[in-house]
Amino acid sequence: MNMRIGIIGGGAAGMMAAAAVKEGSPEAEVTLFEKNKYLGAKVSISGGGRCNVTTGIFDVRKLLENYPRGAKFLMSAMFRFPPEKVMEWFEAHGVKLKIEEDLRVFPKSDVGKDVVNALQAYLQSSGVKVLLGSDVVSVVRMVGGHAVSYTQSSNDLAAESSLNIDVKIIKPDQISQEFQITLKDGQSFMFDSLIITTGGNAYRHTGSTGDGYAFAKALGHTVTPLAPSLNSFIMADSWVKSVAGVSFEKAKIIFHGIVKKYERTGAFVFTHYGISGPAVFALSSAAAYETYSKEKPMKLTIDLFPEESPENLLKRVNEMILKLGRKSITNFVDMFLPKSLCPVVVKLLKIDESLQAAQLSKEQRKLMVQYFKQLPFTVIGRGAGDEFVTAGGVPLSEVNTNTMESKICPGLYFAGEILDIDGFTGGFNLQASWATGRLAGESCAGRDC
Ligand SMILES: Cc1cc2nc3c(=O)[nH]c(=O)nc-3n(C[C@H](O)[C@H](O)[C@H](O)COP(=O)(O)OP(=O)(O)OC[C@H]3O[C@@H](n4cnc5c(N)ncnc54)[C@H](O)[C@@H]3O)c2cc1C
Repeated sequence: MNMRIGIIGGGAAGMMAAAAVKEGSPEAEVTLFEKNKYLGAKVSISGGGRCNVTTGIFDVRKLLENYPRGAKFLMSAMFRFPPEKVMEWFEAHGVKLKIEEDLRVFPKSDVGKDVVNALQAYLQSSGVKVLLGSDVVSVVRMVGGHAVSYTQSSNDLAAESSLNIDVKIIKPDQISQEFQITLKDGQSFMFDSLIITTGGNAYRHTGSTGDGYAFAKALGHTVTPLAPSLNSFIMADSWVKSVAGVSFEKAKIIFHGIVKKYERTGAFVFTHYGISGPAVFALSSAAAYETYSKEKPMKLTIDLFPEESPENLLKRVNEMILKLGRKSITNFVDMFLPKSLCPVVVKLLKIDESLQAAQLSKEQRKLMVQYFKQLPFTVIGRGAGDEFVTAGGVPLSEVNTNTMESKICPGLYFAGEILDIDGFTGGFNLQASWATGRLAGESCAGRDC
C-alpha cells in the first residue's frame, strides 16, 4: 500500500510540505486539508499583497540573526532550503522574482497570488489531493484500531478503547499506527503520517485560528505561552495624531519593560494612534511577552538623534542660539525637527511659544535636548503590524530539528508558524515556513511507514 500522508493547513508550510513529499516520493498519497475555500490566504496578502517570499540574505548564519525565537532550531532546515533555493524553486515553477534594495524578495509581477498559484499548480499536477473547505476538528492517534494517548515520560503508548475499558501498554514498533482526522462535516480519514501546518493565531480571519495547538496537545505535546509579535504600538499620547505620517530614517526606540529594557535602532513612522515601522516591529518582537494595556501602560522613549551625544547636541543648540537666538522658539526647534513635531516639543517644554530662543534658560536648553534624545511616550496597546505573527507555539524541544518529526508522537510532523519560531519583518517568517515545511515533507516522504 502506498504511504498515506495527511497535511492540515494549506498555508505556506503546508503547501511546501505537500510539494516536498511528492518530489521525494511521487507515489505517496498526499491529502492537504484547508478550511478556506482557497489555499494560501496569508501568503497572498503578505507583503502588502505583493508577497515578500523570502529575503536576499543568503548567508544562513546572518539570516538566522533575524529570528528572536527559534534561530538555533532552524539551522538544519535553513541550510537545506535557504533563501536562494527557495528562489530557485519558485523561479523553476514560473514565478520570476526580484530582490529589492532592502533585500526583500518579491515576485517581479508584485502579485502575491502568483506565489500561491505556482504552488497550487504543482500540487495539482503532482496528484496531491487538495480538499478545500475542509475544517479539521479532531486528530486522534490510532493503534490497532484504538485511540491512544501519550505520556511524555515514557516512549510507551497507553492504548485505550473509546470506552476507556481496555488500557494496555504497547511498544510503538509492535503494531501498526495511524492518524484519524475528522472534519466538521463528520467525514474522517486515516493516514500513516500527519503534518500539522495550521499556522499561528494572528490575523484569524485568514483561517489561522490556532486550531493546531489543540491538535498538538491531543497528541501529547505542550504549547508555550502565545503572544502577538511584529505589531505597531498604540500610545496614550493623543498628540501623535497631529504628526501622523512623519517618519525618521534612524532613531533609537527604547521600550521600558517590566523585566528589562528593549531597544532597536532604525526607521519608524508616527501613525494616528502611535508608532509603526521596521524598528517598531523589531522592538515589538523582542518585547512580545511584555503585557501592556490602558490599565497597565508602559514607558517608551525615542532618541531622535541616536548618533549624537547629549553633550554634542547641547553644544549645537547653544551655538545655534548664538547665531539665531532671535528666532521664535517654535522656529528654532524647527531647525532640528520636522515642522509638525515642533509645537509638540514646545508644549512638552511647558514654555511660552512667543519666547525667543535666546531667552531659553540653561535648564530649558538641557530639557530640550533631553526631549530630542528621550521623547517620552506611554504605550497602551498593540496595533496591527505589517506582518503580525504569533510568538510561541509547539516547543522546539519536543520536535526533532533534523526532521521536524515529533519526539513524542512518531509519524507526526510540525512546520511553520505553529512552532515556537518567529522572525522579524523582511520575508523571514515565510522563509521559516518554506524551510520547515520542506524539511517536514522530505522527512515524511523518506519515512518507512
Ligand atoms: C498581514 C500579514 C502580512 C505578512 N507579510 C509577511 C511578509 O511579507 N513576509 C513574511 O515572511 N511573512 C509575512 N507574514 C507572516 C507569514 O505570512 C506567516 O508567518 C506564514 O504565512 C505562516 O505560514 P504557515 O503555513 O505556518 O501558516 P498560515 O499561512 O497561517 O497557514 C495556515 C493554514 O492552515 C489553515 N487551517 C488552520 N486551522 C485549520 C483546520 N482546523 N483545518 C483546516 N485548515 C486549517 C488556515 O486556514 C491557513 O490557511 C505576514 C502575516 C500577515 C498576517
